[in-house]
Amino acid sequence: MDITWTATQKQRLGELNADEALADLVFADTVSRETRFRELEKELAAQNRRDLVSLKEEHRRPLLLQLESSLAQWLREQGFVQVVTPLLLSRGMLNKMTITAEHPLTRQVFWVDEARCLRPMLAPNLYYLLRDLRRLWGKPVKIFEIGPCFRKESQGAYHLNEFTMLNFVELDDLEGRQDERLRERAAALMKAAGIEDYRLEKDECHVYGDTIDIIAGSGLELGSGAYGPHDLDHSWGIVDPWVGIGFGLERLALTLKGYKNIRRTGRSLSYLDGARLNI
Ligand code: ATP
Ligand code: MG
Repeated sequence: MDITWTATQKQRLGELNADEALADLVFADTVSRETRFRELEKELAAQNRRDLVSLKEEHRRPLLLQLESSLAQWLREQGFVQVVTPLLLSRGMLNKMTITAEHPLTRQVFWVDEARCLRPMLAPNLYYLLRDLRRLWGKPVKIFEIGPCFRKESQGAYHLNEFTMLNFVELDDLEGRQDERLRERAAALMKAAGIEDYRLEKDECHVYGDTIDIIAGSGLELGSGAYGPHDLDHSWGIVDPWVGIGFGLERLALTLKGYKNIRRTGRSLSYLDGARLNI
């Protein structure tokens, strides 16, 4: 019988970010397996320690936060205004996104009380601001927010219950050019984030109908874009064309680092800037 890693060993190697190929090693006997495991654990722990030292001595800020500030600065340079809106979202705002009882996202919403939930997305707040800012500023209105969003997820390698969304939206005379603008903006943001291997894919979304997804070379969805005029617009008092994209920053960080688990890059007490702490 082939001797492979025990479940605990496999888990530990994953935690320490071992190369995926190592998971499939086969051993002649358990002694050689244990020896190899001890060697590997030591090497990997040393790498994690080195990463923590460079965090302390060099960049002093996890990649997630580096991305947050570099992309925010980049968006401001593109003329987008950064906004900050409440994490607590009213039931009414969610309903206005047509996220009502039958909607798949409904089961993922964390309710704080009868009337309020933790926002599962930034779009409702941005939609809300667009109308006032359109009135006050005229066109174009270009805004973005970067901040926490919350969804009950069944904890795969690419979903967190709390993650960081970057959502930008641009309302302007874009009639007939929305698709093109969306693709340009997606490409420019990927360049600013330093991700080269990706593709754009048309998809069908429960909230927005047709969307354009940004998919990493690994197949992972990094962002979802949509544009209007759109059925939802009238309930938010929006009449002009717009384009918008929401990205998950932890997924961008994971892609840049080549990690296999998103938990490394998110808010955590077990990992700091991708390094495991129980080493
Ligand atoms: P998926 O299909 O991968 O579950 P989604 O289509 O539900 O994602 P959107 O609602 O389009 O996600 O959200 C926009 C972006 O936010 C996604 O492309 C992804 O990068 C990020 N995102 C969504 N849910 C999560 C999550 N639970 N954890 C981390 N990032 C997320
Ligand atoms: Mg999506």
